[in-house]
Amino acid sequence: MRSLDRLYDMLNFNSEFVEKKEFEKYKASRFKDRKMVVVTCMDSRLTDLLPRALNIKDGNSKIIKDAGAIVLHPFGSVMRSVIVAVYELNADEVFVVGHHDCGMSCIDPGETINKMKE
Ligand SMILES: [Zn+2]
Repeated sequence: MRSLDRLYDMLNFNSEFVEKKEFEKYKASRFKDRKMVVVTCMDSRLTDLLPRALNIKDGNSKIIKDAGAIVLHPFGSVMRSVIVAVYELNADEVFVVGHHDCGMSCIDPGETINKMKE
């Protein structure tokens, strides 16, 4: 399926989602009781699994995802999000959650650079 087709599929789904007001069951206060930040991997297997495995409910945490759950730079986008969560959104716990079989563990940066050049 072409990317443009996927985009239109998502937009059509979203129109129906909004029309049926299915978003209302996800409404939550910006400032919930549990104020935690979770830095985790962007692995698509974790999208549903992580919140279920850790009993994270909608609205009670900020989940920051990147490749490998790695904080590379003290002022990079991951830390910026952590800082905003702690100092502006009153988060008081920060968890870094990795996972088994992370794809980042077998990526050769040299090969990735070659793919980019190609
Ligand atoms: Zn991973």
